[in-house]
Amino acid sequence: MAKKVLTVGEILVEIVATTKGDGFGEPQPLIGPFPSGAPAIFIDQVGRLGTPAAIISRVGNDDFGRLNLDRLAADGVDVSGVEVAKGEVTGSAFVRYRPDGSRKFVYNIAHSATGRLVLTPAGEALLESCDHLHVMGTALSVSGLADVAREAIARIKARGGTLSFDPNLRREILETPGLRQALEEVLAHSDLFLPSGEEIYLFTEADDEAAAVAELLRRGVGEIVIKRGDRGASHFDAHGRTDVAPLWVDEVDPTGAGDCFGGAFVSLWLAGASPETALRYANAAGAHAVTEIGPMEGAATRDQLDALLGLTKG
Ligand code: ATP
Ligand code: MG
Repeated sequence: MAKKVLTVGEILVEIVATTKGDGFGEPQPLIGPFPSGAPAIFIDQVGRLGTPAAIISRVGNDDFGRLNLDRLAADGVDVSGVEVAKGEVTGSAFVRYRPDGSRKFVYNIAHSATGRLVLTPAGEALLESCDHLHVMGTALSVSGLADVAREAIARIKARGGTLSFDPNLRREILETPGLRQALEEVLAHSDLFLPSGEEIYLFTEADDEAAAVAELLRRGVGEIVIKRGDRGASHFDAHGRTDVAPLWVDEVDPTGAGDCFGGAFVSLWLAGASPETALRYANAAGAHAVTEIGPMEGAATRDQLDALLGLTKG
């Protein structure tokens, strides 16, 4: 039977400014809400590829929560572990791009329904039935989420399951008290580590990439995949290194690319694909993701990825 992927973490809506500029200091046109939250985007991509998938999270009893639950369920994700909290509000993120491509966010996560996650009986059942856990660093930076994530890691690993980890963090957030140690703990248990660019340096003293990769492999991380935005991606394990060139696409919204990349890589990896194949599909999923406005809108089906890779028959 196909292995089932679980993630634990935030479900949010994202609301995007339609003009570029510096933040939200004045009234302006916005578009949204879009389903979002890094773990939610990741698991939606897993579901769209037809891989069994589930998420443990919490939303408010509002339209923002329903929008997410409807999308995830439509894409095949088991949402039995998402608690709908009466009288609470679903998390949100407002984002505006600056002309240089950097982003300014206004978040409501820690004080939203998702920030008060506790393990429910339905969540417990998922910990007993899933084969693989994917952890996003963002989930560890919110205290209400971190306890559940830690419990999930311990339980899934104790049952012989596998763990993937995407730090998904900027250096600034790392100064949150206790966060670095929490991340180190997750890394120590990771079979698959999926940093973006500079994040490879978060957990080592090494100052070049090859040395950082070698050190992490030596410390027991089984495989490492480095995401490089519009420069493609690379895979490393004990057997060596594989690179993949970026596919040529028209980037309209880069948010969510890393999450879709991860969802595709984990899906193929669990199905037993070679690192080369998993990397090629993940690279295509990341490329597809940036072609649509809204972080989850660009999650792709297998047919869409095959078409992007030029593998479509007839
Ligand atoms: P985010 O955290 O915003 O979701 P990320 O920083 O984790 O993104 P990126 O490295 O930006 O992840 O993107 C993930 C992968 O998606 C890249 O490694 C690449 O394979 C693909 N990708 C991203 N942007 C592009 C692009 N403009 N053109 C082609 N492929 C892209
Ligand atoms: Mg990322």
